[in-house]
Amino acid sequence: MKISDILSRWYHEHKRDLPWRETRDPYAIWVSEIILQQTRVTQGIDYYLRFLDQFPDLQSLAEAKIEKVLKVWQGLGYYTRARNMHATAAHIIREHHGVFPSTYMEILKLKGIGPYTAAAIASIAFNEPHAVIDGNVHRVIARIFGLSDPPGQVPAKCSICRQAEILLKPEEPGVHNQAIMEFGALVCTPAKPSCTSCPLQQHCVAFKQDLVDKLPVRIRSIKQRHRYFHYFIIQSGNSIAIRQRTEKDIWQHLFEFPLIETLRATSLERLMESSSWNYLFRNGQFRPDKVSKIFKHSLTHQVIHAKFYHLNNIPSDPSISSSFQQVPIKEIDNYPVPKLIENYLKILSD
Ligand code: SF4
Repeated sequence: MKISDILSRWYHEHKRDLPWRETRDPYAIWVSEIILQQTRVTQGIDYYLRFLDQFPDLQSLAEAKIEKVLKVWQGLGYYTRARNMHATAAHIIREHHGVFPSTYMEILKLKGIGPYTAAAIASIAFNEPHAVIDGNVHRVIARIFGLSDPPGQVPAKCSICRQAEILLKPEEPGVHNQAIMEFGALVCTPAKPSCTSCPLQQHCVAFKQDLVDKLPVRIRSIKQRHRYFHYFIIQSGNSIAIRQRTEKDIWQHLFEFPLIETLRATSLERLMESSSWNYLFRNGQFRPDKVSKIFKHSLTHQVIHAKFYHLNNIPSDPSISSSFQQVPIKEIDNYPVPKLIENYLKILSD
């Protein structure tokens, strides 16, 4: 039996019951693929269902306020994905009369959609023969065919990409793509793959040549940047100061408390002597009533070390810089905030 037929049979017998597998609607498939780019399947299911509940189609997503989209996305991270989806939905309504493009090349032109997502949507929704190459597919192909391309190779030099296209079943490309991704997620896993019970064992070069733990070739991980965030929870009566992050940095368009960032960990005394402190508090002599422990929050290439400083009953004017807005404390949950802040607010309310 051919490798693709074995994969297909295995998939029909073992695939997980996932909500996006019940549809061929390109919009819903797009939503699922974007969510799953950086998210585990178990976590992604809830977000997928909630997203479709709030924005069931292109029109509702295009018409929504970006703050509402970010709020639904809150906790998933990589917020550029949500911003791009919002912009792309508006683009499709405007330029394609609200009809999702149906070819790989047209889908690839959409903002926030790369070759992987375009191949997934084109093959699953429109039966176009394009192989998806995600981390799971890359690993499965590298092992079965004994290929040592490093990840991220340009397509012209990528023998794994070529092999993925050769392996594709043209009569059912969508099923094939889902089968090989699922196989990588459940059988040919990064650590401890189930080689002894694997239906592809007889075809697998890595298994036969004892290369399973050497393939795929890994690139050395990028050094992480450490950042030190000092957040100020400034309460004036029943309101609290927040601002929207607008700069090109993590968490763009999300809301946060007034922030001072330092290059390294620092004491409260040193912080109070800094020019950033004077700027934030307009030289006011305020001292926090309470300071939290340090919370470590890991992103892909950054680790945020955050502390929260509580200042209560600060007069609203001239207490802090005018670049913040005052919102009622009980309405803070309406604003999209980074997961780090969401977690801290949960601790406060418990
Ligand atoms: S034999 Fe092992 S390495 Fe080869 S495809 Fe199966 S699970 Fe993956």
